[in-house]
Amino acid sequence: MKRFLVGFFALLAVVLGSQSLLLAAEAQGVPVLCYHRFGPKVADSMTTTTPTFAAQLQWLQDNGYTVIPLRTLVNYLLGQGPPPPPKAVVITADDAHKTVYSDMLPLLKKYNMPVTLFVYPSAVSRADYVMTWEQLKECQDTGLVDIQSHTFWHPNFKKEKKKLKPEEYQKLVHDQLTKSKASLERRFGKTVDILAWPFGIYDEELEQAAAKAGYVAAFSIERRLANPSERIMAQPRYMITEADKSKNFVAFVSGKVSEKGPRTY
Ligand SMILES: [Zn+2]
Repeated sequence: MKRFLVGFFALLAVVLGSQSLLLAAEAQGVPVLCYHRFGPKVADSMTTTTPTFAAQLQWLQDNGYTVIPLRTLVNYLLGQGPPPPPKAVVITADDAHKTVYSDMLPLLKKYNMPVTLFVYPSAVSRADYVMTWEQLKECQDTGLVDIQSHTFWHPNFKKEKKKLKPEEYQKLVHDQLTKSKASLERRFGKTVDILAWPFGIYDEELEQAAAKAGYVAAFSIERRLANPSERIMAQPRYMITEADKSKNFVAFVSGKVSEKGPRTY
């Protein structure tokens, strides 16, 4: 009997333990950080200076955070992978700015941290502030960089919807989602099925269109933790700029800032 009781309580402890771990992971969520551009000084409202970014990576390392690939988080959000470790963080950067190559990449290599780049192919090798295809390939070849979709030419879907006839708008949405996916998959020989909404703009119609185009998850820029309880096509991210240096950064990463509901544009 005594043996039975010991066994029973051991089992109970395991069950309760794993359940509370699961609950903790769910309640905790994961901060997904969204960067845009870097440089020695603040060039615009989207800049994080390179020394600030370096200090943030150092802070994550010193404070026991683990930077995990976005794919690991997405698999968990889809119920296809284990919960991320405690103190997990995801790093992303939108728009493939050339300073992602010159300033961000060397630091990611130094700290051995993975990143996902959300790219809109129409600007690659064409706009002078955007990386070339060769530079993106070089990023991918480090093994630290995952390239995913930011639509084809980064439209403002809200403005386009007002401007276009319903069928023209639907065609634009379809083309933006499928052309970007196909182009990046062809260039990089990998699956592209994660999306970042341009300007963080999305609605139910866009979410459905993204799912239909073959995306399994999409991200906006609302300041909350990514979590299985959020809709999979509208997962939040914390946008980081120089204004979010130190104090805000710590509050975002530790989930202390939690914006309610979708943003209005
Ligand atoms: Zn963008």
